[in-house]
Amino acid sequence: DHGVATASADPFFPSQWGLENDGTTSEPWAVLADADIDADAGWHRTRGAGVVVAVIDSGVDISHPDLVNNIWHNPGETCGNDVDDDHNGYVDDCDGWDFVNNDNTPEDLNGHVTHVAGIIGAEANNAIGIAGVAYESQIMALKIGNEAPPLSAAIEAIAYAIDNGARVINASWIVEDVNAATYFEPILDAAEAAGVLVVAGAGTSGNNLDSHPVYPAASTNPNVIAVGASTPQDERAPYSGFGPASVDVFAPGEHIASTMPGGSYAVFSGTSMAAPMVSGAAALLWAATPAATAAEVKGALLDQS
Ligand code: CA
Repeated sequence: DHGVATASADPFFPSQWGLENDGTTSEPWAVLADADIDADAGWHRTRGAGVVVAVIDSGVDISHPDLVNNIWHNPGETCGNDVDDDHNGYVDDCDGWDFVNNDNTPEDLNGHVTHVAGIIGAEANNAIGIAGVAYESQIMALKIGNEAPPLSAAIEAIAYAIDNGARVINASWIVEDVNAATYFEPILDAAEAAGVLVVAGAGTSGNNLDSHPVYPAASTNPNVIAVGASTPQDERAPYSGFGPASVDVFAPGEHIASTMPGGSYAVFSGTSMAAPMVSGAAALLWAATPAATAAEVKGALLDQS
C-alpha cells in the first residue's frame, strides 16, 4: 500500500460507476452498488507505470489534456528527420502509426478510440476529466479504423505492437470475414510467443459467438481474452456478444464516460468500452508482477475468487 490518493480529484470520477461505486450516482441511470472493477483497491498497489498498451483502432487525439502525458513515444526515433532511425520499417514513427494511410499521424477522426484510450490510461488526480484504469500506463496509438478495419492493416498493426514493446493490445473491433480465423491465427500466435495479451471486444451484435464467431474475439489462443459488456445493474448488456466458449469475461461497458477529441468528454456504451477496462486491469497486473506470462495475467483477470 503506497497510501496514494484515489482519483477523487477528477471531476467526472463520480460518473465512472465501472471503476468504483457505492450505489449512488449523479447520472440518470440506476447503479448497483459495487458492480465495478474495484479499481481503487488496485491503485493502492500500482497504477500501471511502465506498461505499454497498444490501442489499435481509429486513432487517438494524442494532445488531449487528459491523455497527453500518458502517450507512448518511440524512444528510438528522432522525429521529423525523414529517417527510420530505429530500423523498424517505419519512418518518423514517433507517436505510433497510421496503417490505413501509411503515415506517422495516427490522429482520431471519429472519436471512437480517443474514448477507448481514456478508459485505459487517462491521467488521474490532475483536476480535469476522468481517471483511466491504468492511469500511469502508456498508450501506443496505432490507427486502422474501427468500422470494418482492413485485415491487412490490423495484422500489420498487431505486428508493430509486438515489435515495439507493447504488452497489451486493445482490439475494440471485430472482423467478420469468413477467413478471418485463418488470417489472424499466425499473428495471434506471434503475439502469444512474444508474451503479448490481446484484449478483444465481443461485438454488439447480441450474438452467441460460439455459433457466430467474430475475430479476434473468438480466437482460442490462450493469450486472447474476449470481453462482453455489462450494465450498471451488473447484467449483460442486451447487445453484447456472448458465448460460454468464446467470451471470457464481462466488464462495465454501458454509460461509460471518457475522453473525446478536442479535449472534450462523452458517455458511450458498447463492448468497445468494456474491453479497455480489461486492458487497463491487465496493465495494472503487469506493473505489479512484471515477470508474469500473458496466460498468467489472463488467468488472474478471470479468477473469480
Ligand atoms: Ca522507425
